Amino acid sequence: MAYWNKELETKPKEELQKMQLGLLRNELRTMYDSSKFIHDKMKSVGLLPEDIDSFERFRKVPFMKKTDLRDNYPDNLFVKPYHELVRLHVSSGTTGNPIVVGYTQNDLDNWAESLDRGMTSFGMSKDDILQNFHGYGLFTGGLGVHYAAEKMGVTVLPISTGNTERQIKMMQDLPITSFAGTPSYMFHIADICDQKGIDIRRDTKVRYAIAGGEPWSESMRQKLQERTGIKVHNCYGASEFYGPMFLECNEQDGLHVWADLAYVEVLDRNGDQCADGERGELVVTMLKKEAFPLIRYKIGDISSLTWEKCGCGRTHPRLMRISGRTDDMLIVRGVNVFPSQIEGVIGEFAFLTPFYRITLTNENFMDSMTIDVEIGEDSLTEDTVSIDRMTRSVESRLKDVLNIKAVVHLTLPGSLERFEGKSCHVKDLRRYD
Ligand SMILES: [Zn+2]
Repeated sequence: MAYWNKELETKPKEELQKMQLGLLRNELRTMYDSSKFIHDKMKSVGLLPEDIDSFERFRKVPFMKKTDLRDNYPDNLFVKPYHELVRLHVSSGTTGNPIVVGYTQNDLDNWAESLDRGMTSFGMSKDDILQNFHGYGLFTGGLGVHYAAEKMGVTVLPISTGNTERQIKMMQDLPITSFAGTPSYMFHIADICDQKGIDIRRDTKVRYAIAGGEPWSESMRQKLQERTGIKVHNCYGASEFYGPMFLECNEQDGLHVWADLAYVEVLDRNGDQCADGERGELVVTMLKKEAFPLIRYKIGDISSLTWEKCGCGRTHPRLMRISGRTDDMLIVRGVNVFPSQIEGVIGEFAFLTPFYRITLTNENFMDSMTIDVEIGEDSLTEDTVSIDRMTRSVESRLKDVLNIKAVVHLTLPGSLERFEGKSCHVKDLRRYD
């Protein structure tokens, strides 16, 4: 398999970490001098950029949080004047102000290179043709993937989101080899293809996909691959970093986090560093940002990191699939429940699809959790005894995993809402008045 920059991508861990520490100090010095926000943060703990001689000491630098970004709306955190910027992206905030991120040309170049290394790592090249159905516009997915692909010579079809009929026509009529988009939209395309009797394996040349922009599970990946015959590579990022930027290689065994571009910490509840492979909260520092600082940013995602060398030969750390959000944890009858746990259980049953909805209600302050999940087309039956048996087996497994009871309703295929953007699986109807 090819490399984008073999020497850099296979450097020994010790050298990479030494390089990271140097880049970290540089970035802190630049931001300390140009950003009042970073200057004040470091001053509050009595640290100068030059004091950071170890990762332990770096952990004394206070966190940046989403509220810091919102509070500085629209551009108070920019460290470059507008005439040095070449682009702005704006995140879709569900509450409060959105977050506006500015980019210099170097920022855009580093972002594209990050994706280019990733795309190369699973075999994409200038021979490929990419149908990009990420939204083009203020969302970083569309333009981010677009420019990275063009930079490496991939031919891009910038079709953007929606108009599924046209998407399917294009992927049949043109020699499209690859997709980029959200996994839920890929499922939607697969559904429509099924309805039209189109077999993606037979009727198209699509071989791989880049999927991201929303939380999704390993079992969803397996189902998507089985249904379509496409090898689906997970992608992760956020507009606060640059945009989507870390991809899985051909091994599909974690996202390669380029150590010269980002320093990712995984922390436990006490703010201590988790062991290799242990799950905790992600804290991200960007090492070469120019227009917008990102130092010890709490993105709110839960995952684990490993420095174990990848099967592909790359030595940079790998980030495992995001397994939850620090803020999407549900507390049901006093028990912590992550939608990802429920997703995991659903994935264990071959007769279920990955489409589900969690509804929380309460009566007399007693919480109830109901899970609607679609049954697969092949497992449809009118036999109430089998339906009952299937329902019980899912309920019993959920009870084992969650430690609380959930009521399961099996629903007809296609009955639950599909989302083209971010999936939203939880309906919390509990009232406390
Ligand atoms: Zn790899």
